[in-house]
Amino acid sequence: ASVMPPVHLGEATHCPYCALQCGMYVSGGVGKAAGTALTVTPRHDIPANAGGLCQKGWTAAELLNPGVRLTTPLARAGRTSPLEPVSWDEALDRVAGAVRDLQAAHGRDAVAVFGGGGLTNEKAYQLGKFARVALRTSQIDYNGRFCMSSAAAATNRAFGMDRGLPFPITDIAGADAVMMVGGNVAETMPPFLRHVPGTLIVVDPRETRTARQAALHLKVTPGTDLALALGMLHIAITEGYADQDYIAARTTGFQAARESVAAWWPERAERVTGVPVAAMRQAVRLLGTAGKAMILTGRGAEQHSKGVDTVSAFINLALALGLPGREGSGYGCVTGQGNGQGGREHGQKADQLPGYRKIDDPAGRAHVAAVWGVDPGELPGPGRSAYELLDALGTDAGPKALLVFGSNPVVSAPRATHVAERLAALDLLVVSDFVLSETAAMADVVLPTTQWAEEHGTMTNLEGRVLLRRQAVTPPDGVRSDLAIVSALAARLGRREGFSDDPRTVFDELRRASAGGVADYAGITYERIARETGVFWPAPSEDHPGTPRPFLDRFPTPDGRARFTPVDHRPVAEDVDDDYPYYLTTGRVLAHYQSGAQTRRVPALNDAAPSAYVELHADLAERLGVGPGDMVRLTSRRGTTEAPARVNRSIRHDTVFMPFHWEGANRLTNPALDPTSRMPEFKVCAVRVERSGGG
Ligand code: SF4
Repeated sequence: ASVMPPVHLGEATHCPYCALQCGMYVSGGVGKAAGTALTVTPRHDIPANAGGLCQKGWTAAELLNPGVRLTTPLARAGRTSPLEPVSWDEALDRVAGAVRDLQAAHGRDAVAVFGGGGLTNEKAYQLGKFARVALRTSQIDYNGRFCMSSAAAATNRAFGMDRGLPFPITDIAGADAVMMVGGNVAETMPPFLRHVPGTLIVVDPRETRTARQAALHLKVTPGTDLALALGMLHIAITEGYADQDYIAARTTGFQAARESVAAWWPERAERVTGVPVAAMRQAVRLLGTAGKAMILTGRGAEQHSKGVDTVSAFINLALALGLPGREGSGYGCVTGQGNGQGGREHGQKADQLPGYRKIDDPAGRAHVAAVWGVDPGELPGPGRSAYELLDALGTDAGPKALLVFGSNPVVSAPRATHVAERLAALDLLVVSDFVLSETAAMADVVLPTTQWAEEHGTMTNLEGRVLLRRQAVTPPDGVRSDLAIVSALAARLGRREGFSDDPRTVFDELRRASAGGVADYAGITYERIARETGVFWPAPSEDHPGTPRPFLDRFPTPDGRARFTPVDHRPVAEDVDDDYPYYLTTGRVLAHYQSGAQTRRVPALNDAAPSAYVELHADLAERLGVGPGDMVRLTSRRGTTEAPARVNRSIRHDTVFMPFHWEGANRLTNPALDPTSRMPEFKVCAVRVERSGGG
């Protein structure tokens, strides 16, 4: 039996998984509870969960069990040798030596960094600084590019600010109607639904758990959400639901948006989307007549090669109805990863510096360079986006080494077999993680890290509320925090100063670096977060109250108005044809989080959902001679995978579904990128569906 590490009784912290960041206590292990297992209980003081947790949260203490995690650095002598335990000095010396050699031979950009949207704010910040100041490489991006980037780009162009929900989550409870586009919160973050007592409209190709709870389900053809939004805006305008006073007072560009939907009469939208005109009309009426209404998007709307324009189309609809910036109404994006919001604010993105500053903005560069004590001219410019970075690895022009922190691209990246081949072509792959993920298993050097309840740090949840994750457990011997790893590597690369391993010191520097930026944390301290159970950014000074609803009086655009953006529908990057006649769409299940690297190691979650599956319509199953549980093979132009069938009559006839928490689904997905956000088209590609074994 494993020995549980000692804990302080009942330390208040937050869940290791999704963007709701449910508050929880971790207790057991010491004092009167010595020898007992660690347990998790929900906190009632955090509004996002207010006493609720999902099964992932209830079982989160299992991750702290020494049996499931790495406790010693690993390295392999040669590319084909097995991973063997090594000392920390050996591991870090090897990484630093190889980095130096590769940069000397091929230039600074020969070394790349891949971060994660689950890392704390402190880690995301330090990783960006490490890349730009210690490695002096432009090649850094992170898995949030696969998550939030389309909504981020669209909200920036509409509102001048990207904050997932620009209002407290509790505001949703007061909305009479809520439309959720491509979000399955009943599986991904169940406590979210307690905030939705009003009429729920769901847009999704599948009858998800969330759709089953909706008053109205618009079962859209995969990849056509944008056309649906155009049709709905056409209806809103022609049937008198547009709020002309609001449009005149608070927005610009309505005329161009109106013209862009003039030809999107409802029957045309029905032909493209498969959603009946009557259902579109009903949805517009519900939103347009509600006293308070909200439109929310999730990855189903965003993970497309036209994800930015799709989100813009729904924002246009929200603006026409007069929702954003009105108390109790609005548009919001439901962030997915644990620190999906904070992870994109502090500089681990290829095109950003801390404070949500653009990396090519001279004033932003000067401010951050001054905090970092370097010349602005020394800071690299923008690098490759996540998929483009992975695609370039080991090529003549691409990076020769990759340092991965808190991400598992072998499972989570599109065209995953190709990504694994690119990783294998590297001279050096280093993975920092607390479990031996599929990506870590390919690494030359694996660095075992501390995890959520073993360290202090801040997370910014889907409301833009900055929260304090407190250390509740003493980490096992042999592991180090990501901050300590970055600090040790920076020292070996000649940067002994400026890379603290203390989260509070790093956060204080982050506050200075973010000051004056859009995501301004200058007035947020650990003490304040604890006292106020979270602080909403921007909070430019310690006496500033924080900003729960940043759009109430004006939008943070130069003229204070929100901007309509005329957009048009375009087909999916890879449509169905005779060879690949079905759409594949991917998503999540209740028991698992992201690539499953953590949740697949929790016995109760693994028992609840032990493998991937293919969901298909009963008519298709019958044609293929497939019964429930029979193995089905899916093949796209990029790869093939097999999984047992789940047969129902609710999924569209032209669509199959596969969850992405296991290797398989992303071998098939299409890396076609949105031209603005560089988001891959995870949510739709063309596949062939066969009974496995051919008979
Ligand atoms: Fe809450 Fe999300 Fe954790 Fe579930 S996974 S307990 S919804 S933070």
